[in-house]
Amino acid sequence: MTTHLTTGQRALLQAELEMRQRQLTRQIDTHQEGHTRMEHAREVLEQDYDDAPQRAMDREVDMALSDIDIQELAAIQAALKRVHDDAYGVCTDCGEGIPFDRLKVEPEALRCVVCEARRETAR
Ligand SMILES: [Zn+2]
Repeated sequence: MTTHLTTGQRALLQAELEMRQRQLTRQIDTHQEGHTRMEHAREVLEQDYDDAPQRAMDREVDMALSDIDIQELAAIQAALKRVHDDAYGVCTDCGEGIPFDRLKVEPEALRCVVCEARRETAR
């Protein structure tokens, strides 16, 4: 199997992945810190009345948000590991090379646009 990506293109995608990894890590850290501080402030301020259901809902939204970040971070870290393998940038469904232009936008992409669209419709 010959790869359709040049060494230069891979290096560029690797840099892109590393940048996103840093961004996401920072985002998750900030989010978790912010959450703890907010929780604490709320507990201090709202001891007098019971708004437990609202509080539980806020927590769920918060957790869902950082779940997405964590999932994306995992995808990026996985992509970083295989960025210099031949399998990187090759669609896992049809085996076609994913165009560099698509990888620039989504360097952690596992599938070509056609297969990705097919999966979206299947869902
Ligand atoms: Zn495909």
